[in-house]
Amino acid sequence: MTNDPVEFLRARLDEEADLARRCDGDGCGEWTALGGTVYFCRMDLSGFPPVIARHIAVHDPARVLREIEAERDVLARHAFGPAGGDPELPWDDRDDCRYDGELRPCDDVLDLALPYAHHADYRREWLPRRMRDSG
Ligand SMILES: [Zn+2]
Repeated sequence: MTNDPVEFLRARLDEEADLARRCDGDGCGEWTALGGTVYFCRMDLSGFPPVIARHIAVHDPARVLREIEAERDVLARHAFGPAGGDPELPWDDRDDCRYDGELRPCDDVLDLALPYAHHADYRREWLPRRMRDSG
C-alpha cells in the first residue's frame, strides 16, 4: 500500500497492461461485435445482449494498451517537481505539479486515479476535490 497516488496509479496501469498483453493485445487485431457475438482474435463467443457485445469489443486489448500509454503520458506531464527552470511560471521553485503548478496531487492525477476507486489500496483522500467538496 502506498501513500502516493502516482505510484498507486502506475501499479494499476502496469496490471492492466499486463492483462491486456496476456489477452494477445499486442498483435491479434481488433475485437469486433455483430449482434450478440464478440469476435476475438482466434474465437468468437455469442449469446451476449448486443449492447454488451459492443461494450466488450470496444474494450479490446489493443485499445486498452493505447489508452494506458496515453494515461502514462498524461501522468508523466503531471510529475511533481519544480517547473523546470522557467522563471515565468509562478510555481518554478515549488515541488508541486510541473505541468499546472497545483499542489500535489493535482486534479488531473486524481482524475486519472478515480477509475480505481474500488481498489483496496485506493485512499479516500484521492477522490477529486470536486467530489470531496460535494459531500
Ligand atoms: Zn498536474
